[in-house]
Amino acid sequence: MSNVTVCVRFRPLSSKEKRDLGDNICIQSFDSENFIIKDEKEEGFTFSFDKVFYEESKQADVYEFLVLPIVRDAVNSINGTIIAYGQTGAGKTYSMEGPNILESDEKKKGILPRVVDGLFSCIKTSTDSTKYTIKLSMVEIYMEKVRDLFDLSKDNIQIKESKTQGILLSGATEISLLDPAEALQSLSSGIANRAIGETQMNMASSRSHCVYMFTLNQQSHSEKRVKSGKLVLVDLAGSEKVEKTGAEGRVLEEAKTINKSLSALGNVINALTCGSPAKANHIPYRDSKLTRLLQDALGGNSRTALLCCCSPSPSNASESLSTLRFGARAR
Ligand code: ADP
Ligand code: MG
Repeated sequence: MSNVTVCVRFRPLSSKEKRDLGDNICIQSFDSENFIIKDEKEEGFTFSFDKVFYEESKQADVYEFLVLPIVRDAVNSINGTIIAYGQTGAGKTYSMEGPNILESDEKKKGILPRVVDGLFSCIKTSTDSTKYTIKLSMVEIYMEKVRDLFDLSKDNIQIKESKTQGILLSGATEISLLDPAEALQSLSSGIANRAIGETQMNMASSRSHCVYMFTLNQQSHSEKRVKSGKLVLVDLAGSEKVEKTGAEGRVLEEAKTINKSLSALGNVINALTCGSPAKANHIPYRDSKLTRLLQDALGGNSRTALLCCCSPSPSNASESLSTLRFGARAR
């Protein structure tokens, strides 16, 4: 079985979409794995995924199906990656963070606060005398430059590889997380720094990839070796096509860079899932900072979950189709 799970999530129609086109949606649900989407010419396309979360789906459903198994594996030192893909406004950040990272409504909490709870509760229920530590780094990748979201003065972090620790963010801040409440505060400060950096650089959050990297180390009394599992969550830059005619200057450069890194990600996932040994030797991790950073959390025996976020509105059908094609290719 493949180590890559691909799911789709349709968010509810926005109030603007409702104003423009009423309650019309471009998808016809079959069941929890299959559906049809119609393009602007009313042509229908059938898609199948590991799971389809329709508009009424709950945050807890997404977490339990897609993320919880990966959290459990991380506690057993198996690396994992959870990636949110889709056009701007499709629900990536809502799925990852919730309406707000410090959201108090249990039902609305996104993947990140649930991961925090999940990691700490897995640790608590472990019966042996193992000592665990959880660390968090947060970086943003913009125009192929990696910025530390816990220290904005570190604006060009290098990605390195070490024999013992795998892929490393050289010199990036690592915060030790002692309890869930403190972990949320750390996430919240990283997210706030992201907004500050964006204003300074005159950039929108949809133009950069945000990477949350949890490292879980465990040391048991019987063994000297420290076992380590990495859990990486990625809120990708918007996948929308920038109109070739209108864009120029920096906007065009941003669009090209995003396009390149998203297709590098698609190529890596595709090479991993296609299963041919010839291709497995040529996984193009080095084609972008994003894939390089994810190298040891994608592939090998690590597990990957891709959440393809879509609007159900006919006005976004072509972007949704392109997101679904990306997801279908990753399976
Ligand atoms: P993205 O991060 O992909 O650009 P957002 O997550 O910011 O998109 O979502 C865009 C808007 O839609 C936000 O106002 C968000 O609150 C809302 N939204 C997204 N997904 C859902 C959902 N599943 N349920 C309710 N509101 C949602
Ligand atoms: Mg977002």
